[in-house]
Amino acid sequence: MKFANLHDDIGNDLFDHPNEPNRLDEFHYPRFKQGNMKFSAIVSCFDGNQNWKTMKKTILHVENAILHSKHFSFDTDKDIQVFLAVEGMCGIVDEPEDKINWLYDHHVRLGSLCWNDDNALACGAKKGNKPLTELGIRTIKQMNKINMAIDTSHCCEWNFYDIARISEKPIIASHSNVKGLYNHYRNLTDAQLEVIKNKNGLVGAIPVRWFVKPKEQNATLDNFIDILVYLKNKIGVDHMALGFDFMDYIPGMEESNVVGMKDITDIQNIAVRLIQHGFLKSEVEQICFKNSFDFMKYYL
Ligand SMILES: [Zn+2]
Repeated sequence: MKFANLHDDIGNDLFDHPNEPNRLDEFHYPRFKQGNMKFSAIVSCFDGNQNWKTMKKTILHVENAILHSKHFSFDTDKDIQVFLAVEGMCGIVDEPEDKINWLYDHHVRLGSLCWNDDNALACGAKKGNKPLTELGIRTIKQMNKINMAIDTSHCCEWNFYDIARISEKPIIASHSNVKGLYNHYRNLTDAQLEVIKNKNGLVGAIPVRWFVKPKEQNATLDNFIDILVYLKNKIGVDHMALGFDFMDYIPGMEESNVVGMKDITDIQNIAVRLIQHGFLKSEVEQICFKNSFDFMKYYL
């Protein structure tokens, strides 16, 4: 089964290993190959502490790594197709239109306005609950105009509804689960799920164990499958995808994924379990690959 991933912080991983210029091909590629991951967001996360200069430097580094890769490409000419994504835009404090244009010119095709921080555009769900700022509204409008997909995974609820109202295009939550099963600030309420569905967007469920159950409960793959069953019942398979947010390649985070899916090399376990839970093969293909690919294709 082919897989697609709406969220993977490989951008930061590459930027944090400047002495390994071939890290993408030598470290990540064999893992992608083993899991049959064929399409992925390459995300650079900006946590609230980066200025615009640092954001640009990071994006240029990651873009360059992909342009020189033997196996990854922004196009369909190599084994694995990728696009850049930005998680958090704390470096944008003025002229958002110009900055969104710059990001787009450097292959960024998906963006969220904040991480867990409260910045000049938006406020993370961890930080509070308030309206989108004027600059944030301009940013969303520019993303619509230039054709950059909008990710709401980290923003607070008030921001979420503002974005849903302002955006004329579908919105996604690239790596979030459901409050109906676990009331984590990063998970979505049933009302938010409904909004994403009605706007023809996607929810990328995340198999990181502390978004599935409280951290100390060591959530399992079956607990994660419960989330996918819940989503199917609430919004239907057409609006479901996966946002893995792998962290296991970060030292000290090896145990971040649900028990039963240790890293990207184990993701086929999800497809196997979904079939065992009565999902049709065509539905599993949609969730694991097709919905993400079809959604992002429009923006590539
Ligand atoms: Zn995140």
